[in-house]
Amino acid sequence: MRFHVTAISASNQLRGDLLTGDLHTGDRIVIATSGQLSQVRNIFSEGETRDSAAGPATLTIELTDMLPLSVGNIIAPADARPEVADQFEAKLNWQGRDELLPGRSYQLVTVNGNTIASISKLKYRLDQASGQHIAANTLQTGESGICNMALTAAIVFDPVAVNPETSKFELLDKRTGATLAKGEIQHGLRRASNVHWQALDVDKLSRAAIKQQTPCVLWLTGLSASGKSTIANLVEKKLVADSKHPYLLDGDNVRHGLNKDLGFTDADRVENIRRVAEMAKLMLDAGLIVIISFISPFKAEREMARSLFAEDEFVEIFIDTSLEVCEQRDPKGLYKKARRGEIKNFTGFDSPYEPPLNPELHIDTESVSAEQAADTIIAHLNAAGK
Ligand code: ADP
Repeated sequence: MRFHVTAISASNQLRGDLLTGDLHTGDRIVIATSGQLSQVRNIFSEGETRDSAAGPATLTIELTDMLPLSVGNIIAPADARPEVADQFEAKLNWQGRDELLPGRSYQLVTVNGNTIASISKLKYRLDQASGQHIAANTLQTGESGICNMALTAAIVFDPVAVNPETSKFELLDKRTGATLAKGEIQHGLRRASNVHWQALDVDKLSRAAIKQQTPCVLWLTGLSASGKSTIANLVEKKLVADSKHPYLLDGDNVRHGLNKDLGFTDADRVENIRRVAEMAKLMLDAGLIVIISFISPFKAEREMARSLFAEDEFVEIFIDTSLEVCEQRDPKGLYKKARRGEIKNFTGFDSPYEPPLNPELHIDTESVSAEQAADTIIAHLNAAGK
């Protein structure tokens, strides 16, 4: 039995949908999200009191206890509870105009609520005609596949084999609300409930205190050759000269190690930034001033990176240089190669750059020198008391 609460009256009568199964007065039930127990006191259907009801049906019920409930809650038998997890395996049918990007965060809507989700691993695509499993890094419009998903908060659900209604979800574009995918949960991933965050005695504050600094992330974004590395390098030197403890993570360098398995497709760029953001979070936790020098072309991933940090910990710095000037500078000869067609997916040419709309700092390198830009960043840190 699964009862989905859609409205709550002042007298604590619960209006909702009996999605599946039977409900009887006296049944022992659980509120799936909170784990609170109660019993069914009354069932009302079409203005009449009933002893029982069978789903699917729209009903009003009363419980024997006044529990803090909210719309969207799922009520289930106390001895046949749905699962609660923040990771699961799902079947997805992709409907977005743009391809699916594993690692990007999407809005996940289920029968009982709303949270943020990303595809942590696309396992395979399902061939439409034969149902065969085909290795894939992405899904195009109309394609289906099996993937692992990670959520920012746990949800209540049933595996599709147990209850299709409570296994269903949709993925929406976070900004526009457009439907990007429909899915059903195959099963929860056991690791979700078994891997707990290890609470440690030494924390971020104490690690920062011995370094006598307030850790933060300076996230430099801009086109290739805009000046990110040059400015980041100067900022790091100035911080060290001031006895601070910075660490500069440079896009090219990280691509030689941790991210050497990633290329420059949209999907790989998303994963590149996800890993860098997670690494920055660990470094911030270590008490460091983290300087990130990555093109990071997509707004969605910069927002995702920002969401990992407290408001005053993340400083987005737009290194603003026009494509023409970047191409003239071309310190690594990459634009020349891109013009000759020797580099695919080059930002500004055949791969987009989405400029930040509200960065904490906006630096126009065509009107200030690299040295002045670095001083502006240091002045911003000083003003913020870092
Ligand atoms: P990115 O890391 O963004 O790819 P780089 O720092 O490697 O860019 O390259 C930028 C190039 O532009 C360097 O050769 C640098 O000397 C030059 N440059 C000229 N003016 C500036 C400026 N105002 N700020 C930063 N770099 C500048």
